[in-house]
Amino acid sequence: MKKYKIAIIKGDGIGPEIVDETIKVLDSVSTKHGFSLSYKEYLLGGEAYDVYGDPAPEETLEGVKNTDAVLFGAIGGEKWDTLPRDKRPETGLLKLRKALGVYANLRPVTVYDELINASTLKPNVIKGVDLLVVRELIGGIYFGEPRALEEDRAYNTMVYSRDEIKRIAKKAFEIAKQRRGKVTSVDKANVLEVSQLWREVVEEVAKDYSDVTLEHMYVDNAAMQIIRDPKQFDVILTSNIFGDILSDEASMLSGSIGLLPSASIGDRYGLYEPIHGSAPDIAGQGIANPIATIASAAMMLRYQLKEEKAANCIENAIKKVLKDGYRTKDISSFDAKEIVTTYEMGSLIAQYVSKE
Ligand code: NAD
Repeated sequence: MKKYKIAIIKGDGIGPEIVDETIKVLDSVSTKHGFSLSYKEYLLGGEAYDVYGDPAPEETLEGVKNTDAVLFGAIGGEKWDTLPRDKRPETGLLKLRKALGVYANLRPVTVYDELINASTLKPNVIKGVDLLVVRELIGGIYFGEPRALEEDRAYNTMVYSRDEIKRIAKKAFEIAKQRRGKVTSVDKANVLEVSQLWREVVEEVAKDYSDVTLEHMYVDNAAMQIIRDPKQFDVILTSNIFGDILSDEASMLSGSIGLLPSASIGDRYGLYEPIHGSAPDIAGQGIANPIATIASAAMMLRYQLKEEKAANCIENAIKKVLKDGYRTKDISSFDAKEIVTTYEMGSLIAQYVSKE
């Protein structure tokens, strides 16, 4: 029997609630699909600061490297908002990403038929949307040197090396091969030299993937096309800053932040987390939606542990639970048959998984 070690970081706010439900679902799917999971908990963010005086303790940064994947809830909260930058929970997360070398951020956007009215866009525009943004995560303008804030001017540098572009492009093409076989590379090659190199390298990489279609799109046009006709996209490949903006825009196609998962992967490690934050306003009330974290665990099974059937099983169970009308409070106004707690939603998905 295959055995995997999973690092668990529950974090702050609703983090512990949503991660506990996800573990329930993982236990159910692993029993069903004949592999075993063991968990080890690590601290990060506010809770780590409270214990260690450091939001990213060495014990966590090193410890998680001895596991097969990291499942993460969320960090942050008012309690830590006045701390200096290097002590804040968000700094802990950035350090963890850097320590793991996770350069590719994957954000799928799926529109569930049952929740089609949760989006602000018209149903005929979003019905059947199934796209994935592959964003470069640890390079580009957010990290480029030189950078400075001076008295009368300020600047940042958008820089990418050939190797950095190549590795993220390869990830996007590999993933497109497992999906519908199309990559849309988004850049600003009509204005930026860094985008001209981006385009050149992406085209070189594309030669190794004859079964994947490549198209290029300028970022301003992409921002418009995502709203106009999102169904045209399969995999969107883009740089750090463009991906930051476009993935938030794309996430709104599905309507609710509590539904969307993400994966951050590199050559060895992977970090799987919901796109939302720690939601301190609803923490401890049992009303948080655990689906985004549960769907992140499905991504962990697919991309990290290569347990594709188990990943599909979780995703199908989520769809069926929604189809049967079960809703947490955040999505309760869309065709709800029964409003359930965080705990009940986790249990329902775990049960549906065992019946799949
Ligand atoms: P947030 O995503 O935590 O919450 C935004 C709104 O969405 C809130 O009304 C919240 O109740 C709701 N919401 C979020 N997740 C939900 C869920 N699963 N179910 C139901 N409702 C949900 O963003 P925010 O309020 O801007 O930030 C709160 C804290 O989270 C801050 O400290 C911020 O720095 C941190 N944060 C952390 C991450 C992360 O851990 N990756 C990401 C974003 C924000």
